[in-house]
Amino acid sequence: MGFSTDAIHAGQEPDLKTGAVITPIYQTSTYAQEELGKHKGYEYARTQNLTRESLEKNIAALEKGKYGIAFSSGLAATNALMSLVKSGDHIIISNNVYGGTYRLYELVMKDFGLDYSWVDTSNLKNIENAIKPNTKIVYVETPTNPMLTITDLKGVSEICKKNNFISIVDNTFMSPYFQNPLEMGCDIVLHSSTKYINGHSDVVSGIVVTKSDKIHDRLRYIQNAAGAIPGPFDCWLILRATKTLAVRMERHEKNANQLAEYFSKNDKAKKVYYPGLKLHPQHELAKKQMRGFGGMISVDFGDIETAKKVVNDVKIFTLAESLGGVESLVCHPASMTHASVPKADRDKMGLTESLVRFSVGIEDVEDLIEDIDNILG
Ligand SMILES: *Cc1c(COP(=O)(O)O)cnc(C)c1O
Repeated sequence: MGFSTDAIHAGQEPDLKTGAVITPIYQTSTYAQEELGKHKGYEYARTQNLTRESLEKNIAALEKGKYGIAFSSGLAATNALMSLVKSGDHIIISNNVYGGTYRLYELVMKDFGLDYSWVDTSNLKNIENAIKPNTKIVYVETPTNPMLTITDLKGVSEICKKNNFISIVDNTFMSPYFQNPLEMGCDIVLHSSTKYINGHSDVVSGIVVTKSDKIHDRLRYIQNAAGAIPGPFDCWLILRATKTLAVRMERHEKNANQLAEYFSKNDKAKKVYYPGLKLHPQHELAKKQMRGFGGMISVDFGDIETAKKVVNDVKIFTLAESLGGVESLVCHPASMTHASVPKADRDKMGLTESLVRFSVGIEDVEDLIEDIDNILG
């Protein structure tokens, strides 16, 4: 099936009892059992919930996987992934991942005996060089947040297959519409569904997708054992949202392309980071592994005053954390999303105090450009 057909139908049969076309919100914590030892496959809602199952099947189809395992947030999913390894194991990870991922792994999970090497995975050699005898996972985010650096996913999956590592890809920025890492041989895809998948800035949620029975079994076990599940209403909202994911992503990208072109012609924007621009150093790789370039743009204005003016004076863009919603947002990564990353590490990757990140929404692009142009002139 095509993406939009799956988005609208996968995992969603009309309700057996009433024929309701839309999967109901099964807002229940428990289920009646017919007699001792006999039930309908539903015992307790941490373990089984039909609204959640529909969502998991839906996203699994969109990511070309076999299983979806939903969590209460992207970070709850990120946390669950560490139950695939044990104390003493080593993980190679992109040095420019989501700030919360860095905080969880480096400042929390390390205390549990996990060892992390933070490397620039956009150069595959850095991955090879970081391999240790106890390496178990290679974890990448591509494009990265907020520098929009690209990692070669086929290359990552080949290294992992050769060495028997698990490859994990945070695909939040592209959504399943523009990039499917499992199709490039990677083992696990992670999404903060808070972002593009839900897209309406009204849910915090996460999901993991895989084709592997073994990985699924372990993560399904952890989903129940640790219990970081999303509520049925949140699952229902996300199911409602995936129906329009394709049309939203098309528009995000169209708007972002035009805004990136505008920035690249304005000399107040000293550096423009957008994979769709020919001047992006990895534009060719982006074209190869992504079907579009997404809706995220980062701009370095060269001095903090201009950056401040932009984030404070915008009228249509809203100054806020998060991304991927229908409304345009602007953020200052150094003091907001990436404040927990040490300054020296931020500077090394170009995440300066004058960098501003734009999550381009689906408003009329003329209005978005005018909003910025009124400030930059
Ligand atoms: C937001 C985000 C996360 C964390 O997800 P939450 O839903 O906020 O817990 C992880 N990775 C990326 C790329 C994100 O943007």
